[in-house]
Amino acid sequence: MTQHEKEELKHIIQTEIAALTDEITTIQRSLRPIKKDCSLDSIDHKMLKQEQNINIQRYEVAKQRLNRLKAAYLNIDNKEYGICQECEEDINIERLKLIPESKYCVSCMNELGL
Ligand SMILES: [Zn+2]
Repeated sequence: MTQHEKEELKHIIQTEIAALTDEITTIQRSLRPIKKDCSLDSIDHKMLKQEQNINIQRYEVAKQRLNRLKAAYLNIDNKEYGICQECEEDINIERLKLIPESKYCVSCMNELGL
């Protein structure tokens, strides 16, 4: 990986972190507890609950990805970064640009069923 590619990846990670942080804040705002509102019938209440559950899932996924991206950012100057943990080959740079937190190359990921 060239220094230039590394800088590009750092920039990508920073952009993704900023976007995820925004998303998490937005989800958090929508995750206010559902008030018992007498004007809501039970179906409305059910739908609100479903929506809430979807938001909680989105929140968890976003938070996990954020943690992985932060770890990748801290790790990017290590020589292990961008190397597949399974076969120790370089991970394709185009793949890293899409998923900077990748720890495996595409073929190992398929083989491991990840
Ligand atoms: Zn591999």
